[in-house]
Amino acid sequence: METVDIVVIGAGFSGLYAIHKLHEKYSLVCFESGDGVGGTWYWNRYPGARVDIKSVEYSYGFDNDLQQDWSWPEYFSAQPDLERYANHVADRFKLRDFIRFSNPVSSLHFDEATNLWHVRTGKGDHVMCRYVIAASGALSAPNTPPWPGMDSFKGPIYHTATWPREGVDFSGQRVGFIGTGSTGIQAMPLIAAQADHLYVFQRTAAYCMPSGNRPMDADFENDWKAHYPERRKELLDSYGVSLIEYPLLSAHEATPEQRAEILETAWNSQNAFQLLFAFSDVMTDPSANDYVAEFVRSKIRGIVKDPATAELLCPKSYPIGGKRLCIGNGYFEMFNRDNVTLVDVKSAPIQAFTETGLRTAAGDFELDAIVTATGFDAATGALTRIDIQGVNKLKITEKWSEGATTYLGSMVAGFPNMFMIHGPMTPAAQAQMITAGEWQVDWTVGIIDAMERDGCTRIDTTEAAEQSWAAEVAMCASQTVHNLADSWYNGRISKGKRADLRSMSAASRGSANCAKMR
Ligand code: NAP
Repeated sequence: METVDIVVIGAGFSGLYAIHKLHEKYSLVCFESGDGVGGTWYWNRYPGARVDIKSVEYSYGFDNDLQQDWSWPEYFSAQPDLERYANHVADRFKLRDFIRFSNPVSSLHFDEATNLWHVRTGKGDHVMCRYVIAASGALSAPNTPPWPGMDSFKGPIYHTATWPREGVDFSGQRVGFIGTGSTGIQAMPLIAAQADHLYVFQRTAAYCMPSGNRPMDADFENDWKAHYPERRKELLDSYGVSLIEYPLLSAHEATPEQRAEILETAWNSQNAFQLLFAFSDVMTDPSANDYVAEFVRSKIRGIVKDPATAELLCPKSYPIGGKRLCIGNGYFEMFNRDNVTLVDVKSAPIQAFTETGLRTAAGDFELDAIVTATGFDAATGALTRIDIQGVNKLKITEKWSEGATTYLGSMVAGFPNMFMIHGPMTPAAQAQMITAGEWQVDWTVGIIDAMERDGCTRIDTTEAAEQSWAAEVAMCASQTVHNLADSWYNGRISKGKRADLRSMSAASRGSANCAKMR
């Protein structure tokens, strides 16, 4: 049996940075379930996969030579470029030797007598270590609803988060697509352009604003490269996205003419998410929010030619920003194609997969292939799928049976020396995950270094600390419109997850900054 100081779970962006920070001082092994680096950007290789934060920001800031040398071809990078970047970083900083690929962690058991974690893996490795860093991702455990009859469907079923590396050719096929969140909205326009017919099975309509993606502009890139140190600091001092200009004007204070102008400017800003920051109270006041929501509905009605389809695409049951705002490239326009049909599965839910397609309460659809973009068992899923046992053999699944509890999203009482990056009740995808991952790794490394320096062997948090963090997250969340929508943010979409704010992974940028200050 092997013994190392540290086991890192996951070779995504945070895991790679953790290896880089730690491997010179400590013995270390990283277990990765995929056969390559990049995490989210390794797995999510569906057509159209693209980040919606500008790449000059959505990139590492820990090494100035890296950010000076690297060039992004587009403002909002596509998956292949992000994967290429992850591979470049792994090679440039010689991180691969520490990573065991295609080797998922299956169990983590804490031995109280020795204060060591026993880590076992799918390939049969058994490693003992003093510290575990779970960089296993907030959105990495795919969610597929257990529809009856899935085995009987004769054609292929794809989940966007486990897309085939060789791609899929939908030419001449009738494709059914389930899921109209951020992922579906990116993938569908490209599939519609290829398929014979695309049936979009929509349960909840999405707010979506245009991404404004475009080839990288040399002046823009050079300006960032000239100012990286101060801009990275600005990112670290915010929640990781610098380009939002925080407004001072309430939507209620603005005149109708001002509102129209401000919203039109935000829509055309080429800054994803600018709509949510068009006024000071969009994310906190439902009636202010409704001005923005109605503006987006008017855009949808203006873009989509068939009025019945347009109306069905208009989100009305929750505030804009309550769920994550989607960023699209031609999503609403796609519904003007003759080969795209919108199917309402809110009023007539999907009942089953059949041999030849899908059955909804309204009838049968004949399909050659089905794509699911049904999201993730967010925040907790990557951890609860591992057999994790802490002090007194307490299982993490038992500990979290009433909803996830953590201190700062980093530690769980009863699971000593185990640190999470982007864990439940961190900002997760409410922040910019590469930058937020860097500061969470730095914070964790600071704890490990201090323990080593002071000769400490065990660190744990307390249930009281977890409760106070839960109260703070809930307090932040209660002031936002997130509470008025069912989404992965608050765990109200995953079966078996307790539907309360304690499982909320991301309350607001307020909690992001609170976490950072400690
Ligand atoms: P998601 O936002 O959770 O969306 C899942 C979709 O599947 C929703 O439309 C949901 O409908 C639908 N669905 C789930 N179960 C269903 C059922 N039984 N019947 C019919 N429809 C069902 O997942 P996602 O789109 O993969 O996005 C997850 C997160 O990943 C995003 O919020 C974002 O943070 C991140 N992401 C980012 C980017 C980017 O940077 N551009 C791209 C993709 C993803 P309901 O709404 O009714 O539940």
